[in-house]
Amino acid sequence: MSIAIPFDNTYAALPDGFFTRLGPTPVAAPRLLAFNAPLAAGLGITDLPGEDDLARLFSGNATPEGAAPLAQVYAGHQFGGFSPQLGDGRAILLGEVVDSGGTRRDIQLKGAGPTPYSRMGDGRAWMGPVLREYLVSEAMHALGIPTTRALAAVATGEEIMRELPLPGAVLTRVASSHIRVGTFQYFAARQDRAGLQRLYDYTLARHYPEATDPVEFLEAVIARQARLVAQWMSVGFIHGVMNTDNTSLSGETIDYGPCAFMDAYHPATVYSSIDRQGRYAYQNQPQIVAWNLAQLASCLVALMPDREDAIQRFTAAIHAVPDRVHAEWLTLFRAKLGLATAQDGDEALIVDLLSLMAQNRADFTNTFRALGGAAARDQFLDREGFDTWETRWTARSAGEDGVAERMRLANPAYIPRNHRVEQMIEAAVAGDMAPFERLRQVLAHPFDDQPDAADLASPPAAGEEIQATFCG
Ligand code: AMP
Ligand code: MG
Ligand code: MG
Repeated sequence: MSIAIPFDNTYAALPDGFFTRLGPTPVAAPRLLAFNAPLAAGLGITDLPGEDDLARLFSGNATPEGAAPLAQVYAGHQFGGFSPQLGDGRAILLGEVVDSGGTRRDIQLKGAGPTPYSRMGDGRAWMGPVLREYLVSEAMHALGIPTTRALAAVATGEEIMRELPLPGAVLTRVASSHIRVGTFQYFAARQDRAGLQRLYDYTLARHYPEATDPVEFLEAVIARQARLVAQWMSVGFIHGVMNTDNTSLSGETIDYGPCAFMDAYHPATVYSSIDRQGRYAYQNQPQIVAWNLAQLASCLVALMPDREDAIQRFTAAIHAVPDRVHAEWLTLFRAKLGLATAQDGDEALIVDLLSLMAQNRADFTNTFRALGGAAARDQFLDREGFDTWETRWTARSAGEDGVAERMRLANPAYIPRNHRVEQMIEAAVAGDMAPFERLRQVLAHPFDDQPDAADLASPPAAGEEIQATFCG
């Protein structure tokens, strides 16, 4: 079998306390479900073997030359409660490659077997969440939102026990890194000053080489996370599990679990079955990211020479997070209304539309996509209410150039709708990958009208609505 993965591993060269070295646990009968050849090419992976060999490689049954497999340790606040030690409980980092754009990327198998950090878990994933993460992360990428990518999905040929026995699978994901707020928390909680410094130096070199001290570093992380969360809001995305161990230092969307895109707009929307209090509801995401960044800031205090000065400067940076998210949000939602310039009253125009949408349970994606056309008012039971708003918007946008084109590029026609994702999973479990392939192709071009895919732009019909999403 020949596959050339140009590994260039740096995390594996960190001290032992950062990870446990171990390989994936082999599976019974690997079978390739999906492979992302364009992504592989961008990673410099050449000499692609046939499907059976790809299945062996990306299930963990064969280890590619140059890999230095390991499970990373971290900590984290899960739903607000702190666990001083978590870690990759079912993920194995194979190693890193430098992609064609010069960015270092981790290649990680998820669902690859137990590790010392598995706690009560089996180290495995079932096919549903694997294919969901594959599709949704690739859709996010096509939407222009920073995210981990999906390289491969392989069925294991093994059943795993959830509430029912389910078919197992392994996802290969690609990330700018898997360093989490929780990774900093791990060393900070142990008061391991040397480990914390080492992690900081590593993360700075890998992601923020322009930062000169922990304050600039924090500011740079804040800038990326503020932008990221605003981008989520702009497409109606709900991450679902914004624990500090699922907040990446690189500013990518990571750890897709019970995530969802909203159909009907309501700010309090929650899909995740484990989020009973609605902590991670759509509208709470900006506050939660600020809270998570505050946890990072408190870890960084130990790296500053003067504690009082550090606390003062970090506090100021954290207090500014809501305004940073809001500024990004305003820019993105202005673009969704076709506006490139800023005027007083823009925010009220956006907020008033969103309120009308919430009152009318208008479809988030389709309402924005339809604005400017005759179909927009069909999203509203209160048509006169919409007409009044539209008159204001028409007056505001009259002075701008390129409104329609700006809107076309800011308002996708296609998102991975929950009911379509669930239908895709049901088909895949039954051996039919055609719905997956079709969704993958359509979602690769979310801003293009695709006349053959009108069904994938429709909200769920009565009885098709997904009430809850689950972890894997
Ligand atoms: P998540 O909420 O998916 O980010 O997972 C939280 C933690 O639980 C992570 O450290 C995972 O590695 C771990 N975990 C989740 N599912 C499993 C599983 N089936 N087996 C072992 N560890 C798991
Ligand atoms: Mg993990
Ligand atoms: Mg996680």
